[in-house]
Formats: sequence, C-alpha cells, structure tokens
Amino acid sequence: MSMMWHCNDCGQNHYYDEIVVRRDTDTKETSITCPSCGSDNLTEAEPCEVCGECYPIEDLYGYNHRVCRDCIERKNGDIDFFADVGKESGCDVEYSLNSFLASFFSKEELEDLMIAELKNRASIRPVDCSEYLKYNMEDAADVLAEE
Ligand SMILES: [Zn+2]
Ligand SMILES: [Zn+2]
Repeated sequence: MSMMWHCNDCGQNHYYDEIVVRRDTDTKETSITCPSCGSDNLTEAEPCEVCGECYPIEDLYGYNHRVCRDCIERKNGDIDFFADVGKESGCDVEYSLNSFLASFFSKEELEDLMIAELKNRASIRPVDCSEYLKYNMEDAADVLAEE
C-alpha cells in the first residue's frame, strides 16, 4: 500500500492513515474513500524527488528518479539533469535518455538539446583520448621493455 493517495475528484493528497477504509464483510473486498469529499476515485501518489510535492504516480516521470512535470519544465535544457532522471539501470543510457526526452519536448527542442550535448562531448573527447592513448602507449612500452 502506498503511503500517499491522491483524490481525482477534489485533488487533495492524503496519507493512507487519513483515508476511510471499509471492508465488506460478505465479499471481503476493501474500499477506500477520500476523507475530504467521500469519493472513491483515488490513485496512489508519491512525492516528486526535486520539490517534494505529492503527485499521482502516473504524473511523475523518469526511471532513476521520480520527478514532476513542473520541475522537468523548470530544468528545461539541463542535459545532466535529464541524463540522470532518464537513466534506466541495465539499459542503454543514450536510448533511455532519448525516449525520456521525446515524451517532453518537440523534435526541434530535442535537436537543440542533442546538439548542445554533442558540442559538449566533442570538447571533452580530444583530451580524454590523448590521455588514454598516452597511458596505453606507456603501458605498451613497459611490456616491450620487459620482453
Ligand atoms: Zn476527495
Ligand atoms: Zn517537482
């Protein structure tokens, strides 16, 4: 059972403790109703990991972290934030990042984000490669010297 519940009729969030739980003695079925308006149209809710506000779980996004739409829109363009939120364990990061972003941005916005990210990567790559090569060349030289 989820800790928090969201009422789809009055829009309030309630802790499970506050919710009215009834158990039908004949059918043994449990029904839950909103303590504010009496509606039984409740969905499980969870807090957004950025702002802490409670939302129905289907209104939270991301794999690695659960974040609300408002926070996602506020972070528009912050590629590191999206890479972190969209990361799915055991899954190809680039793919999950793309599919996560695709659900939020238009093709044009996505292209801008990806271009910015590629430029960013292009500026790191030469340094990383030369360091890597230097290290491996020294390694190879050591191995040759030993033989
Ligand atoms: Zn309600
Ligand atoms: Zn939020």
